[in-house]
Amino acid sequence: MTSGSSPRPEVLTVRARRLLPVFLLVLLVLAVRQLWWLAPPEAALGGPTMGTTWSLRLDARGRTRADLAEARTAVDASLARVDGLMSTWKPDSELSRLNRHASGEPFPLSDETFEVLALALAVAERTGGAFDPTVRPLVAAWGFGAGARAPGQGPDAAELAALRGRVGPGLIELDEATRTIRKRRPDVECDLSAIAKGFAVDEVAHALVALGWQAFLVEVGGEVAVRGERPAGGPWQVGIERPDAAGRELHARIALVDAALATSGDYRSFYEQDGRRLAHIIDPRSGRPIEHGLASVSVMHRRAVLADAWATALGVLGPEEGFALAQREGLAAHFLVRAGEGGFESHSTPGFPALVWPPVPEPAVEE
Ligand code: AMP
Ligand code: MG
Repeated sequence: MTSGSSPRPEVLTVRARRLLPVFLLVLLVLAVRQLWWLAPPEAALGGPTMGTTWSLRLDARGRTRADLAEARTAVDASLARVDGLMSTWKPDSELSRLNRHASGEPFPLSDETFEVLALALAVAERTGGAFDPTVRPLVAAWGFGAGARAPGQGPDAAELAALRGRVGPGLIELDEATRTIRKRRPDVECDLSAIAKGFAVDEVAHALVALGWQAFLVEVGGEVAVRGERPAGGPWQVGIERPDAAGRELHARIALVDAALATSGDYRSFYEQDGRRLAHIIDPRSGRPIEHGLASVSVMHRRAVLADAWATALGVLGPEEGFALAQREGLAAHFLVRAGEGGFESHSTPGFPALVWPPVPEPAVEE
C-alpha cells in the first residue's frame, strides 16, 4: 500500500511558513539566555560563615552563571565542612565533642582536624608555646569565644594558676598511625580559632582548582589566598587594614601572587578594663591577654593555614620577640606597632612584599 495520507508539498510550505516566526523566537530566546548566562569577566561571590563572612573574586571570562553557581556550592560545602569540624560554637562539631571527651582514652579525628592540630602543634613548638591549641580554658576565662564568662571578670591568681595547669601543647598527643588524639588530662580543651579560618581558605582554594578555576582571590574572615592574576591583568591586590577599632581604613595594599595573607591583631576583638585593653589573644606563658604595643601583624605564606597560625603566634610574641623570630624563621611578616597618639610604626621582614601606598581603590565587580 502507498501512503495516501502524506501531506502534499504545498501544505508543508504553508505549515513551515507559519512555524518560522515561532522558530525564530525560540532562537532569539536561546541567544538572549546564553548571553545573560555568561558570567561577568570578574565575578564576585560571598556569604556568611563561621560567625564571619567569606568573599570570592574569580576570573570568570568564558564562564557561565551556571559555573558560578557550581563554584558557590563548592565553596559553601568546603566552609560548612570546616565549620562542622572545628567550630567551638557548634555543640556537635568534632572539636566540641573532643572538648567534652573528658578522658585519657584516644579520640578519633577526621583527617582535616588531625592535620590542623598537627600544624598547630608544630607552630607551638617553634614558638616555645606562645601559640597553643590548648589555650581554650584561658580564652574563655578572659571572656572570649564560645562559653566565655562575662568580660571584665577575669580569673584571680588562684584560678589563673589552676587554668594554666590545663593548658600546654604537651598535654595533647597525636597518633599519626591511628589518627587519634589523646589528652594527658581529661579537662584539656582545644581552640583552633587562630588557624581554622586559614585552613578553610586553603580548602576553598583546593575545591576551586579542582573545578578548573585558575585565577581567584578567596577571603574568609580577613584571611586571604590568591591564585593566578586578575582578569584585567596584573596581580591581585590585598588590603591591610589600619589597626583602628573605630573604622575600617586601609593601611596599605600589597600585590599577592599564588600566596596567602593573614592578619592578627588586638584592635577588633577586645574590651577595656581599668583603662587597659584586654585582647582576645592570650599569652599562654603568662595566662593573660597580650599587653604590648603590637597592634597587628600580617604574614604572607604559601599556605593560608600557616599564614593564619603564624600571624597569631607573632601577635602573641609581640613587636621585638615576634619580629626576631619571624626573621629567624624566614617568615614574610609586616608588623604595625602603636606609636604615640593614634599613630603607628610599621616594620617588614625582608620577604614581605612592598607596600602599595596610597592604596589603589578597588574596582567594583558584579555580583
Ligand atoms: P586570630 O584572629 O587568627 O589571631 O585568632 C585569635 C583566636 O585564637 C582567639 O579568639 C582565640 O580563640 C585563639 N587564641 C588566643 N590566644 C591564642 C594562642 N596563644 N594560641 C592559639 N590560639 C589562640
Ligand atoms: Mg590566626
